[in-house]
Amino acid sequence: MTINNALFETLNPPQRLLMGPGPINAYPRVHQALSNQLIGQYDPVMTEYMRQTQVLYRQVFHTQNPETLLIDGTARAGIEAVLVSILQPGDKVLIPVIGRFGHLLCEIAQRTGAEITTIDVEWGKVCDPQQIEDAIKQVKPKLLATVQGDTSTTMNQPLAEIGEICQRHDVLFYCDATASVAGNELLVDDWHLDAVSVGLQKCLGGPSGSAPLTLSPKFVEQINRRKHIEKGIRDPHHTDGIEAMIQSNYFDLPMILDYWGEERLNHHTEATSMLYAARECARLFLEEGPAKVIARHKQAGDAMAAGLQAMGLRLFGDQDYKMNNVVGVYIPDLVDGEKVRQELLTRFGIEIGTSFGPLKGRIWRIGTMGYNARQEAVLHTLAALEAVLFKHRAQIQLGTAVAAAMEYY
Ligand SMILES: *Cc1c(COP(=O)(O)O)cnc(C)c1O
Repeated sequence: MTINNALFETLNPPQRLLMGPGPINAYPRVHQALSNQLIGQYDPVMTEYMRQTQVLYRQVFHTQNPETLLIDGTARAGIEAVLVSILQPGDKVLIPVIGRFGHLLCEIAQRTGAEITTIDVEWGKVCDPQQIEDAIKQVKPKLLATVQGDTSTTMNQPLAEIGEICQRHDVLFYCDATASVAGNELLVDDWHLDAVSVGLQKCLGGPSGSAPLTLSPKFVEQINRRKHIEKGIRDPHHTDGIEAMIQSNYFDLPMILDYWGEERLNHHTEATSMLYAARECARLFLEEGPAKVIARHKQAGDAMAAGLQAMGLRLFGDQDYKMNNVVGVYIPDLVDGEKVRQELLTRFGIEIGTSFGPLKGRIWRIGTMGYNARQEAVLHTLAALEAVLFKHRAQIQLGTAVAAAMEYY
């Protein structure tokens, strides 16, 4: 038997500059938070950290919702918890699809047995609120589910008007804001959102693995009708909801709310280290100030876009609705996009993103998020991309990109 010595080497991942659509490099303070010692699930210090995390995320989300907490899992866990807890077989859900993550909402909703109607928008554009209102009148859905920033197309769907429409027609409004939160405005209460879920690995500047979530009282009232408490932890005062049991135990929001609530009814074991990370991400965002962090993302995003254009590259999508934190750029003619990405990674240690579906092989996606929404990350990326494109004989303007980006600082 041969022993593979690499198995026993200490982990030593390379230094990368992660300039794709996420994950990104985490803020150093988040790594510090992650390295803290574990404590017990019901240690008063732990339950106090949970409480603090709720207070912090209410501010991140601009909401008064008492039910604001973390789902343990990546961003998709937050999406699944919302959809599986609210949707029952036969329920009607309306989903405007502006990119890959809209299709993901459909796929998850489909698994609940809900009846799905989509509004399919051409990739690179956002959905017109009038179209949504017309569809609501026709379909009369229980829920409207959408994505705010869809990294697959770099578009940021405006939500305020949709929120008003949903309120007027008494439709619950859920949004996946994973890619946009902390880099673009997100006002949960002002925009009448009933459920919003996010992740850490975009503009919040943490690792993937925790999904902050907020739920309006109206949404909570609806899901509590499906509340069923596990036999092993029931007390005589517990009564079951009148509607069908939620099909997932792990993502059963009423049970998760009881775990985070006064009663602290046992559900899963809260992912302690990820809670430390999520708490630090929120603290960093609020300390620097939401308006300043969003402005920093816009500055970095504008600088990157200007640099790419100065090089002679063409940007993808309706720029009026571009997310601050990610830009799509067409791969120049006769250039192998994957080879360029590979060389950026192996020679410069810089990662940029490829694309999905109809955009596969046509555009790269370059992110400036969280810790990487800063000048030197933007300038290093542009300089490296220019060098690699020159080597690949792309028709570009040399010597202009970095200077164009520097104008923004
Ligand atoms: C990146 C992203 C996710 C990520 O989901 P994970 O489960 O954390 O991989 C979800 N939704 C949107 C809109 C995203 O951009």
